[in-house]
Amino acid sequence: MRDQLDAYITEHAERWTEELRELCAIASEATDPSALQQAADWCEQRLRAAGCETRQIALDGVPSLVVGETGAGARTLIGVQHYDVQPAVPLELWTTPPYDPAVRDGAVYARGVDDNKGHLLLRIQAVEAYRAVFGELPIRMRFLIEGEEESGSASLGRLLATDDALTDGDGALKEGGSVDSSGRPQLLLGGKGILYAELRVRTLARDAHSGGATHLPNAAWRLVDALSTLMDVRGRVRIQGFYDDVRDPSAEERAHVAALPFDADEVKRIYGLRGFAFGRGNTDVRLASQFEPTCNICGIVSGFIDDGTKTVIPAEASCKIDFRLVPDQDPERIAALVRAHLDRHGFGDIESVYKEGTRPYRGRRDDPLVRAVKAAAEEAFGKDAHLVPTSGGTSPMWTVCHRRALANVTLGMGHPGSAAHAPDENIILANYWKAIRATARLYSLYATQA
Ligand SMILES: [Zn+2]
Repeated sequence: MRDQLDAYITEHAERWTEELRELCAIASEATDPSALQQAADWCEQRLRAAGCETRQIALDGVPSLVVGETGAGARTLIGVQHYDVQPAVPLELWTTPPYDPAVRDGAVYARGVDDNKGHLLLRIQAVEAYRAVFGELPIRMRFLIEGEEESGSASLGRLLATDDALTDGDGALKEGGSVDSSGRPQLLLGGKGILYAELRVRTLARDAHSGGATHLPNAAWRLVDALSTLMDVRGRVRIQGFYDDVRDPSAEERAHVAALPFDADEVKRIYGLRGFAFGRGNTDVRLASQFEPTCNICGIVSGFIDDGTKTVIPAEASCKIDFRLVPDQDPERIAALVRAHLDRHGFGDIESVYKEGTRPYRGRRDDPLVRAVKAAAEEAFGKDAHLVPTSGGTSPMWTVCHRRALANVTLGMGHPGSAAHAPDENIILANYWKAIRATARLYSLYATQA
């Protein structure tokens, strides 16, 4: 049944789509400080237009934190978002340019449209809709929109430490959110942490003729040998102490996850897989994605890779690796363990450079916020919603939530083909309108939810 909220959303769909295109046209990649500032200003302006009090918190050389607040009530909800985006390269893989947002077949294509600009904007548009239809929000809603999330939120802790009141609240809306291939909302209750590192090695003062491969050490082999000691073929990380701080899921948590629907065939279809990595079966994939840390090689560079042939012994090799971490692993401790592992295995010559680290966070299921989000999502999307303990990705929820042990949950509109972080990133507008409706409903439900 259509109500006033639906009517308001329909009436403003065109303007709101234009706003989304406008925000996504700003190329706010980490390497462009002026574009980041432009995106921050755009968000602050939009928050103000929706009726929020706003400010920006700036520290030297760091993208500013945009804060917007509105409403009044016994509960405070903190919305955690970011206005920076992943690099759009490789550009040639995009059907239309990443910063020239295009609408095709009811979907909007642009870098950042799913992660995280569409999601941050719909929460603001939901404030506008709520205030226009019902008046002031019956909760205190506080938006925190940072500009460094895609490179690890390195300064968020410092930005939040400027004012303890920023993390005072009762619950947090984590960035993003999605529906599965059957349109069922997936509500994530946390995110994995990350350690991102670079490994580098130099074995020769200069590249050499490969005739010398009998006695001149090859940097590519050196790096590959070191990498092969990090993990076994079953996906078990072999670094001593790596699993020490992993919090084992309870039998009830495992049963909850094992019972969640999982469309293995759809995942295999999207990625063109015959089977999952490490020989994992469907249930094991589900459990591992929730409770297991990872060791992943993001890229390796060494030697000659151009067309034609060149017989050479590379003097240098490097790679970037990430470890997705689970509670209660600490990226700084894991970095020290990686170093100790390399040294213990005779790879003292391999330099390890710590690039970024974020702690994992997994919030509770038994909380009024989780119940309110579930009810709002199920009403708007018309399908059962699923509570998923953690995202495979990382967001800075520990930084925002740990001081008060806040519950956190996603409420959004991404879909399995959203291609976040990849070419042709997109969102489906029909889902977008439902997510605005769900979010506006949440603002009222959360006020009284038991
Ligand atoms: Zn994001």
